[in-house]
Amino acid sequence: MRVFKFGGASVNSAEAVSNMASIVARHLESGPLAVVVSAMGKTTNLLERLVPGVTPPDEQAALWAQLTDYHCDIVRRLLPGDPSAEADVRRLVTELRSVCNGLVPSDLQYNFNYDQVVSYGELISTTIVARYLQSRGVDAHWLDARQLIVTDNHFREGRVCWEPTRSRVRQAVGDVLGSARRSLVLTQGFIAGSGDGHTTTLGREGSDYSAAVLAYCLDAESVTIWKDVPGFLNADPKYFPDTVRIEQIPYNEAIELAYYGASVIHPKTVKPLQNKAIPLYIRSFVTPDSVGSVIGNFRSIRPESPLYIVKSNQILLSIAPHDFSFIAEDNLQTIFTMLSELGIRVNLMQNSALSFSLCVDNHPHRVGLLIERLRHSFHVRFNEGLQLVTIRYYTQQVIDRIVGGRPVLLEQRSRTTEQLVVPDGENAG
Ligand code: ASP
Ligand code: MG
Repeated sequence: MRVFKFGGASVNSAEAVSNMASIVARHLESGPLAVVVSAMGKTTNLLERLVPGVTPPDEQAALWAQLTDYHCDIVRRLLPGDPSAEADVRRLVTELRSVCNGLVPSDLQYNFNYDQVVSYGELISTTIVARYLQSRGVDAHWLDARQLIVTDNHFREGRVCWEPTRSRVRQAVGDVLGSARRSLVLTQGFIAGSGDGHTTTLGREGSDYSAAVLAYCLDAESVTIWKDVPGFLNADPKYFPDTVRIEQIPYNEAIELAYYGASVIHPKTVKPLQNKAIPLYIRSFVTPDSVGSVIGNFRSIRPESPLYIVKSNQILLSIAPHDFSFIAEDNLQTIFTMLSELGIRVNLMQNSALSFSLCVDNHPHRVGLLIERLRHSFHVRFNEGLQLVTIRYYTQQVIDRIVGGRPVLLEQRSRTTEQLVVPDGENAG
């Protein structure tokens, strides 16, 4: 059994879905597949705006129309003679509307509401893809990930309950694949269900993790993530003109890179695969015959090269106690409790006797709340519009080129890794 994952960009149009279906059909010839699919294109962003309370009522109609038209257009192009497929999409949109009507808009309910709404992106995309695969003669079985992957009640960041998940996945997939050869199961990335029947999600970009969870539960041979890049690059081409494809990456290196913010894979994805020594291939859906990259049991990356990770939209907070006391364990405890309550991850931190600096993603809602709460006990200064650049296997020459004359607001260096907080610049490379 192999697990394939297709992200939003790989299914963002009728042509993309048809290309994706060709890849799947070709690979199905060499054995069964479990296929995980994300929401189409930027649908998740659109749905975030439909979470109750986010968008003023008079602006919502346009969003609903956009959601419906985008998917119906794709469905009509893919399945021109089949009105029932379009009806499926409309039924899901109607269902989502009634879900929204039943939710209470409030800050306290926001995370819960978010998952109930945003999960429809994947429900719609997989419904369309399943229909289309079937129309091409592929024996595709749609499975509801809300019934497969069990999480706790941590909305927007569900934590997988491995035992029930494993037994549900094995049973459901076994039922399907036991019954027929050359068939595949198709399910949603990103979404899951809490034990008590609510929809949860695994965090933005969580579909990679869904694929890893399935692979782990199924003792899969491999996972392949099909992307719009030719593999794992040493830098984001958005920031760096000359990128190098890394052919082999050790699991631990991939975990480090994801931790520092490499967007090629979701941070939680690698660990379950490493536990079972399941290789993770990253391949291009644009050039599906090229080899791509593989994360597995290797000693070092190949070829050797500096690796760059840029995190934009950072905010640097400098926190000092009101009463001029030192930054000690009790202050740090207060600060970390707030961070954890607000679900804010620290990307870089440094402390001195009198102040504590934190670099975090500048999430407007959460960081605003954090500053408000911190100000009860601390002086808070902040700097926005920053970039956190991480360089693995740095040289001084490489660092100088990255900094390029910009002021460095915070710097941290270890034997292998340099981290710099600098003003956001269009061109880091
Ligand atoms: N659709 C979700 C997102 O955009 C999950 C994913 O694509 O991995 O974050
Ligand atoms: Mg994605």
